[in-house]
Amino acid sequence: MSLLECPGCGGRFAPFDGPVHAYMESSPGCWQAFGQVLAREYGNPGLFAVHRLSVDAYAVQHPGGDSRQAIQSVGVHLVRLCLFLERGLTAEAANDAMLRVAKAKAAMTWLARPASLGAVTVADVVAATDAPAHADLVRRWARAAWDAWATHHDLVRRWADAG
Ligand SMILES: [Zn+2]
Repeated sequence: MSLLECPGCGGRFAPFDGPVHAYMESSPGCWQAFGQVLAREYGNPGLFAVHRLSVDAYAVQHPGGDSRQAIQSVGVHLVRLCLFLERGLTAEAANDAMLRVAKAKAAMTWLARPASLGAVTVADVVAATDAPAHADLVRRWARAAWDAWATHHDLVRRWADAG
């Protein structure tokens, strides 16, 4: 069976007939894999610490078009990755920070999509065979997704400062 490349993250997935997200552009197989990753995280309290990283990594690897929703989704999730990966924000302290991030939304502008969105995708995470491997892969996934947007990091840091 040949695998199909996701138009968002570039991950490769078995053909699957199903729904996709409204504005995060993905293949149905990729969206299904993300659902499996989330289900695993909801079902294991030990994965709480990486759950937000999964959501952020997925969002910024599936930027979609230039609708206001898509622009703000990419912007907010990049700011969150900046806070987690560069500024040491913890999952426990995340809620307050996210309220501040929401205030910066109105100023967010469209970011040109990088040619590559990172070498690690949800296809790698969904293949993890246990929770420690899952957590490790999510951290690598989030780092790869954040690094992929390097040309916009300075702007994203300013958005993070504005919140
Ligand atoms: Zn994808």
